[in-house]
Amino acid sequence: MNIQNYINGEFVNPIKNNWLDNYNPSIGEVYGQIPNSTKEDVENAYLAAAKAFSSWSNTTLEERSNILSKIAHLILEKLDVLAAAESKDNGKPISLAKQVDIPRAASNFQFFANAITQFSSESHESIGLNAVNFTLRQPIGVVGCISPWNLPLYLFTWKIAPAIAAGNCVVAKPSEITPMTAYLLGEICNEAGLPEGVLNIVHGLGSTTGQAIVAHPNIKAISFTGGTKTGAHIAKVAAPMFKKLSLELGGKNPNIIFADCNYDKMLETTVRSSFANQGQICLCGSRILVEEKIYEKFKKDFIKKVSELKVGNPSDNSTNIGAIVSAEHLEKVKSYIDIAEQEGGRILFGGNKVIIKNCENGYYLQPTIIEVTNNRCRLNQEEIFGPVVTLMSFKTDKEALTLANDTKYGLSATLWTNNLNRTMQFSKQLQTGIIWVNTWMLRDLRTPFGGQKDSGVGREGGFEALRFFTEPKNICIQYESPS
Ligand code: NDP
Repeated sequence: MNIQNYINGEFVNPIKNNWLDNYNPSIGEVYGQIPNSTKEDVENAYLAAAKAFSSWSNTTLEERSNILSKIAHLILEKLDVLAAAESKDNGKPISLAKQVDIPRAASNFQFFANAITQFSSESHESIGLNAVNFTLRQPIGVVGCISPWNLPLYLFTWKIAPAIAAGNCVVAKPSEITPMTAYLLGEICNEAGLPEGVLNIVHGLGSTTGQAIVAHPNIKAISFTGGTKTGAHIAKVAAPMFKKLSLELGGKNPNIIFADCNYDKMLETTVRSSFANQGQICLCGSRILVEEKIYEKFKKDFIKKVSELKVGNPSDNSTNIGAIVSAEHLEKVKSYIDIAEQEGGRILFGGNKVIIKNCENGYYLQPTIIEVTNNRCRLNQEEIFGPVVTLMSFKTDKEALTLANDTKYGLSATLWTNNLNRTMQFSKQLQTGIIWVNTWMLRDLRTPFGGQKDSGVGREGGFEALRFFTEPKNICIQYESPS
């Protein structure tokens, strides 16, 4: 199936008529073409957005909220079609797309449909000076949203929904590897009555299309989710133009397990936090740190549970682990497994590619567990972003904390313990933006979401996102005293 750019409410071919292949990773075959857009296409998208801005930014909150709600409802109505498209494009199990990706995309729109009606700004009375200050929170104008391939519609809408709720118009680019559901979103927006030009979706490569969005002098804010290296490059391009930037980047998250935890719940959740979406979630706990007392027991039980996971065709309902997103990414992930031994690691389970019947050319990999003894090894320092976790033991709280913080990343951490004092000590000292205690990936969309250190700058979610997508303007009025 071929897809087109969505500009000014219409589906159009790229100006230069260049196209890219779109692959189905479950069978390793091209199944469609997508625009290989250039800066001329981005310019057209910008012009459509700029034209729509004055009217959209003056639309009442009620109207905006209603349109966002309609989009949310339509996403849920088309859940099966969208989930099938996401699974085919990305390789993720259909069950995951149905239970997580698509419902969450709908929730993103519904959440910001509600949040914008509750968003408020501050007022400060300057007592004794006969003055009052109030702050306007005005939309920025045309903003850019760029998202990755791992949770395609989920992360794309997580940016677009707050941007348009706040009154901005958007030029957006999904990953060229997974463009399909973004394309379908354009149709949904038209059906929901989103005015033309409010959302424009341009497909293409990061290095050309993405770059053109970031470098555009009049796109004044960029919300980006992707790799740390790309984030650093975007920051360099955007800084001289003083653009507002929100960067949600990579992670190397510790999953810290103490002997006093609820063992069964921890074990079941750890299988998920290690391998959900083939381990291709920025929040996956890829470094499992286990208290020495239960290390051997955990190792045995974890290997047994992981060996029960079914690697298979993503469209099969019983599949737990689908295909890796691309041949290139499969090779990258495999290259880390291949250096395990020279890095002092020992493969406890997995490590090999898998051939699936009737999907022989698909990109499949066993869930892989590697035991390491040194946290400074590349397996524990670099983001692998695949179905690969490492195991390491620790003796004391201090050692666990030191190991957990010993990485350049600081996105999330998971802590398993029933000790309240330890929970508080770790909560205060872990250098991450998100900490889950006795759970994983339990999300409340009102909370600030993002990372510290090389995992990003700024926070998404709730009012944080609405603050990012608005410009605060303070007005100070002095009044006369009664004579
Ligand atoms: P990339 O950084 O490669 O790409 C992310 C997006 O940026 C894609 O749309 C890509 O386009 C685009 N892009 C690439 N180069 C440029 C450029 N020069 N200018 C503008 N845009 C560009 O990341 P991946 O897609 O490989 O995603 C995986 C990464 O995302 C992992 O590091 C993961 O940790 C991170 N991530 C972070 C999350 C968080 O919330 N912190 C959540 C999910 C993922 P294209 O793909 O078409 O080249």
